[in-house]
Amino acid sequence: MLRRSFLQTTLAGALAAAARDKKMIGIQVGAVSFVDEGVEKVLDVFQQSASISTLFIATFTYGRGIAGRQVPGQPLPDHGKQEYDTATFHGGNFTRVNPRYFQNTALQNFRAPDFGDYDVLEAVLPSARKRGMKTICWFEDVFREDVPGIRKLQEKELSGRNATTLCFNNPDYRNWLLGMVENYARSYEIDGIMWGSERQGAFSNALGASHGGASRDPERVTCFCEFCERKARERGINPERARAGFKELAAFVHDGRAHKRPVDGYYVTLWRLMLRYPELLAWEMLWTDSLRETYAAMHRKVKEVKPSLGIGWHIWHNNSFNPIYRAEQDLAELAKYSDFLKMVMYHNCGGERMAGYIKSVGQTIYGDVPGQELLDFHYRVLDYQEKRLDEIPRTGLSADYVYREAKRARTALDAAHAKTQLWPGIDIDIPTSAESSKSSPDGTRRAVEAAFRAGADGVLLSRKYSEMKLANLRGAGEAIREL
Ligand SMILES: [Zn+2]
Repeated sequence: MLRRSFLQTTLAGALAAAARDKKMIGIQVGAVSFVDEGVEKVLDVFQQSASISTLFIATFTYGRGIAGRQVPGQPLPDHGKQEYDTATFHGGNFTRVNPRYFQNTALQNFRAPDFGDYDVLEAVLPSARKRGMKTICWFEDVFREDVPGIRKLQEKELSGRNATTLCFNNPDYRNWLLGMVENYARSYEIDGIMWGSERQGAFSNALGASHGGASRDPERVTCFCEFCERKARERGINPERARAGFKELAAFVHDGRAHKRPVDGYYVTLWRLMLRYPELLAWEMLWTDSLRETYAAMHRKVKEVKPSLGIGWHIWHNNSFNPIYRAEQDLAELAKYSDFLKMVMYHNCGGERMAGYIKSVGQTIYGDVPGQELLDFHYRVLDYQEKRLDEIPRTGLSADYVYREAKRARTALDAAHAKTQLWPGIDIDIPTSAESSKSSPDGTRRAVEAAFRAGADGVLLSRKYSEMKLANLRGAGEAIREL
């Protein structure tokens, strides 16, 4: 009897371990954590606290969301150097750059100077491989204005002046992105590449249809560069008409932000503009298609170099707030060139962010709709149900939000018969304002459980280890060990 129950227990344990092994358990981590805390120490913590099997190393960015220490003004977590890197953070590429892959782009000099010659992949890969951990290069569409040669790649605003963002239709940027994936794929024994672009087209941007959208200047929408205008003409879109439409849209938004109600109200007036200028939507879709073509080109390049290497995308949190942006994230379409999708489902900061989105579009497209009604409408059309508008910044969104978002993505991918892996992005200590909700071990555990209950193929703990508290990481680990 004793022997039999021992065998049964062992078998059950082995089956559970096998089920767990099939799931991707990932964490995003920047070079600074390995430099500050030591490679072996960081990997020990990952394995012991949350059974992490895959590292998503921030190999390139000029942003602070996924690289650098804790964002200044936010409390430092209980590990790592106990000081901010405000003065020393610069960003760029945290690995070696082989110039061979960057011959067809003006962007040549983008190595991060933060840690001298330090190459984060060279430093981490041997230890990760020894432990059986996978490594994915993770980079994003975020730049500084002082990168040499960058002006040639920048988008053009409505006024014709350069934007700080880069244009997907500009051959110099497209070639640079292809050079990046080739550089990673050919130079290192990695397991995959993930790239993310947290941007949207001119129509949604003008309306401020994102969290933080209220601070956007509707006249600074993009892209009106020569490449985009040429591509528009090829599609039968008249760039002059588009410019005229966006100028009128900008005036509409300016008035809305100043609480100057149009005679026929906000919603009707916006429809009048859209009917008069169908170029507004055509320009939005032109931008979205250009992003999709960029995904497809990067996917093709990686398969050309090394067919076994996976490549996929980080899908912006705005997917949970703005129905227009969600419409653009057509998973049946994206699945064609995505080995995996990290769909952002950040529950804790989601409350503050949803409230920010509602506040912004409550002055533009939905200027006549009171905030709570507007939120209720969004809960209906986005198919999740959370607390009241005045509560969500303080409470965050619940695990049920994660469940519904993951379930919806799962169903959409299954309906498309896609082989694309679904990896929800889980919020661990993503900064929120002082009075807003903060991550907790229990909340994190429930978010991870919800993602798996909905049929996710893995979870990606986000945004970066250098801002996570260990107790909250262990909360995720509890749910992972229950698998
Ligand atoms: Zn352009």
